[in-house]
Amino acid sequence: MRVDRARCIGSGICAGTAPGHFVLVDGVSRPLAERVAPDEVLVDAADSCPVEAVVVSEVDGLRRIAPEP
Ligand code: SF4
Repeated sequence: MRVDRARCIGSGICAGTAPGHFVLVDGVSRPLAERVAPDEVLVDAADSCPVEAVVVSEVDGLRRIAPEP
């Protein structure tokens, strides 16, 4: 999982949706861990981001899980 820091507008929705997974630093979201166990709340966070800055992928990075490609 990653956050496109250039795209993030600091809305805080991801941190509100999945507080154990994101933290806002200087108004930009940062994932607390790059590799995480599968969790539907991460899909919800990615789908809720207004600028699609949260990207959840398989560990090998080959398949994007959310937001839907
Ligand atoms: S929901 Fe998107 S825009 Fe808002 S803080 Fe998270 S990554 Fe940034």
